[in-house]
Amino acid sequence: MALARQAQAGESWGVQLPTQAFVDGRYVDAQAGGTLPCVFPGNGRTIGHVAACETADVDAAVGSARKAFESGAWSRMAPQDRRKVLLKLSELILHNRDELATLETLNVGKPLVNAKTGDIPSAAACIGWFGEAIDKIYGEVGPTPHDLTAVITREPLGVVAAVVPWNYPLSMAAWKLGPALAAGNSVVLKPAEQSPYTALRIAGLAMEAGLPPGVLNVISGYGETAGQALGRHMDVDCVTFTGSTEVGKLFMRYAGESNAKRVSLELGGKSPQVVLADSDLDAAAAAVAAGIFSNAGQVCNAGSRLIVDRAIKDKLLDRIVTHARNLRVGDPFDADTKMGPVVSKEQHARVLSYIESGRQDGATVVTGGRKVGALPDGFFIEPTVFDGVSNDMKIAQEEIFGPVLSTIEFRDLDEALAIANDTVYGLAAGVWTNDIRKAQRAAKAIRAGVVWVNCFDRGNMSVPFGGFKQSGHGRDKSLHAIDKYTDWKAVWYAS
Ligand code: NDP
Repeated sequence: MALARQAQAGESWGVQLPTQAFVDGRYVDAQAGGTLPCVFPGNGRTIGHVAACETADVDAAVGSARKAFESGAWSRMAPQDRRKVLLKLSELILHNRDELATLETLNVGKPLVNAKTGDIPSAAACIGWFGEAIDKIYGEVGPTPHDLTAVITREPLGVVAAVVPWNYPLSMAAWKLGPALAAGNSVVLKPAEQSPYTALRIAGLAMEAGLPPGVLNVISGYGETAGQALGRHMDVDCVTFTGSTEVGKLFMRYAGESNAKRVSLELGGKSPQVVLADSDLDAAAAAVAAGIFSNAGQVCNAGSRLIVDRAIKDKLLDRIVTHARNLRVGDPFDADTKMGPVVSKEQHARVLSYIESGRQDGATVVTGGRKVGALPDGFFIEPTVFDGVSNDMKIAQEEIFGPVLSTIEFRDLDEALAIANDTVYGLAAGVWTNDIRKAQRAAKAIRAGVVWVNCFDRGNMSVPFGGFKQSGHGRDKSLHAIDKYTDWKAVWYAS
C-alpha cells in the first residue's frame, strides 16, 4: 500500500505542509505561539502542526480586512478587473491541483482520486464562475416620478467571516470565497481544525493571482476560540457558515449579542430518498448507495433515510447491499479505493455509537456495522445498511455524518411524504418514480431546498444550494449567492 509504505519509511508526502496562518498578505504564526495538530485519518498519526489562532489573531485579521476594504484596492476595483484576478486564481488552483489534492487527502482522508477529480477542480470552477459573473450583474433604476431618478446598486458588505467544515474543505471555502470576493468584500476564512491545509495554501495562490493584501486572511484555529471571536467581532459585517446545526445556532446568538451582523447558514440534513414501487430499481439502488457512501457519508445532503415502498423493499435492499459490499474501503492514496476513513477519531467513535444505538433501538444491520481494520489505526468504518428502522429512532432523526443508511418502509405515497417531512431538517431529498404525477406531487410536498427526481446529488454552479427548516438559510452557488454578500443601496437624484 502506498500509504503504509510512506508511513513506514517516514518519507515526505511530496508536498510542503502549511504551518502558519495568513494575515495581511503574509504567512504568520499565532501571536501567542500556539499550534494545533494535523492528523492523517488514514493512519491516525500526527503529520504536522498549524497556527492555533486566538482572539488577538482574529483582531489582526479583521483589522487587515477592514483596512483593505476601506482602501478600495479591491472593493472599488472595476468588476472587470476583479474578474481577471479571480480567473487567475481559478487557473492557479487547477495548476496546483495535485498538491492541493494531496493536502486535502492528508487532512481528511478522502480518496486522492476524488480530491483530484472532484474537490479541487470544482473549487477552481466555482471561483472562476463568480469571477465570470461579476461584470455581468446590473443594478436597477426605479420607476419613480419624472422629477426623480432612483439608482439602486448592489454594495459589498465589508468584512465577511467564512467559517467552514472539514467534509469538502476547499470546495466549501470556494462556495463562500467566490461570491464574497467577486462582490468586492474582504474575507477572513476559518477552516475547520481538521482541515486547514488547502485554505492556507490558497491564500498564497490568491496573492499570486493579484488579490491585494488583506482582502483574504486565513485564520487556522479552534472553533470555540477563533470561530467564536469572529462570530462576536464588532467589525465583522457578515458570517457565512457551513457546519452543524448546533454551531450554526451559536453564530446567530453571537450575532445577537454583538453587532447584529448578517448570518447565513448551510447546516445539517437527514435527507430522504423516497423510492416508489414503479421506479427503476437498478438506477435507484446505485444512486442511494452513492448518496450515502460517497465521502464516507460525510455530506450535508447525504441521503441517509431510505423511505421505500414495502412491496419493493427487499429487491431494492439486495441491490444496495451489493453496492455496499463491492465498495473498496481503505488507503485513500490507493487509486482503487472508493471509500476512505472518516475524518477523525471523534467522528469514528460518534458514527460507531450511532450504529450501536440503531441496534439497541431494534433496527437490523443488513450489512456493515463495524470498524474496518484496513490500516491499524485509521478511522475506517464499513458501509452500513440498517433495515427495520422507524422514523422516530435516533438513527433516523439525527445527522450521523457517516456511511450509515436507515431503511424505513411505507405503504402509500401520503405516508412516504409524511415520513420524509418528519424531521427538523430540510436540506435535500430524492424521489424515484416513473409516474410524472407522483413525482410532481412529491417534489412539491417535500419541504427541502433541493429535490432530485430520478437522480441524486447532481449539481451545477448555476443552481442554488441550501436548506429549509433547521438546515439553514441563504443559498450557496448561483447568482443568488451574491445576495448574501451584498446590500442594496438606493440613491435618489432630484432634477
Ligand atoms: P462544527 O459545526 O462544529 O464545525 C464547523 C465549523 O464551525 C468549524 O470551522 C468549527 O471549528 C467551527 N466551530 C465549532 N464550534 C464552534 C464554536 N463554538 N464557535 C464558533 N465556531 C465553531 O462541526 P463538527 O466538526 O464538530 O462536526 C460535528 C457534526 O456536525 C458532524 O458530525 C455533522 O453531523 C455536522 N456537520 C455538518 C456539516 C455540513 O456540511 N452540514 C459539516 C461538518 C459537520 P473547529 O473545527 O475548530 O471545531
